[in-house]
Amino acid sequence: MNPKNRRAGAGTTDECIFLFVHSRRPLEKRMSTRATPIVWYIVLAPFATLVLLGFGSLEGLWILFFAHLALIATTLIPSFQGFGPVMTFFGQAGDEVWLTIDDGPNPRTTPAILDLLDRYEAKATFFLVGQKIMDAPGLVQMILDRGHSIGNHTQTHPQLHFWRLGPRRLRHEIERFEGTLSNLNLPIPCLFRAPTGMKNPYLHPILSARSLFLVGWSARAFDTRVKEPAIAAERLLRAAEPGAILLLHECSQISIRTLEILLHALDRRQIRCVIPKPDQLRTKRTDSVKTLDCEPTCAAFSKWGSITQSWRRLYRKDSR
Ligand SMILES: [Zn+2]
Repeated sequence: MNPKNRRAGAGTTDECIFLFVHSRRPLEKRMSTRATPIVWYIVLAPFATLVLLGFGSLEGLWILFFAHLALIATTLIPSFQGFGPVMTFFGQAGDEVWLTIDDGPNPRTTPAILDLLDRYEAKATFFLVGQKIMDAPGLVQMILDRGHSIGNHTQTHPQLHFWRLGPRRLRHEIERFEGTLSNLNLPIPCLFRAPTGMKNPYLHPILSARSLFLVGWSARAFDTRVKEPAIAAERLLRAAEPGAILLLHECSQISIRTLEILLHALDRRQIRCVIPKPDQLRTKRTDSVKTLDCEPTCAAFSKWGSITQSWRRLYRKDSR
């Protein structure tokens, strides 16, 4: 069977197959990643600089400086979409958020997390690491059996140098993850999350060719750094508006306690944790039907306000 038809999406396997086979506009086309204005600017900047220098104008160096700045910012800031679409929200029918849990499976945390989700009748998507799946293959089936979905979070989770991987190594990380699932007869997801959210200009063409959505987040708990679960949960709760994608990890008891506080608060607010279908995914907070044909530059700049706001909030909180 064609791997594209075996992908399990944000919803169930059947839903994803439906999308791939019957969508009026092929998913590959909707995910098309033509070079964005920022990519063109970065590529053409050195030539423009040389031309201007040839005419004796030092102002050309500014063009080069801003091209470097754009490259670094788009690579390192997860919600910047200068290289292509990053899903940061989803279109929802009511008070619903999408809970995403990274870096599993983990025998010490996954079963407890699944029990917690069951207790609050919440559904989540687990972005898994291939190597960890090989250590605990039964946990993936357990996640799927309990009604949750999975996403590709690379084979080895190279978080420190993912941003500087070349196309061959990037493809290798993604394909090896899919190979790990195939060997276990598990469905291959159509969702991908980059380690630490970093990306480079090679990533989107690879994802597009494999019909994978790059999933970011609306808010993250920083539960790998914060020692106090209540603070981590509060970060997510502040952003828990309808359509938000919430990110936390499964690597410690702090994460589990954070999830418990979060689920309890969401339950009190009557906000449901659901798994959106791929066609609900959005690059920004909007109900526009044009969302998958993202406008990277606009999306990047519209995000700037909320990013600086959250930095300010973080700074105030940490400096207390
Ligand atoms: Zn991760």
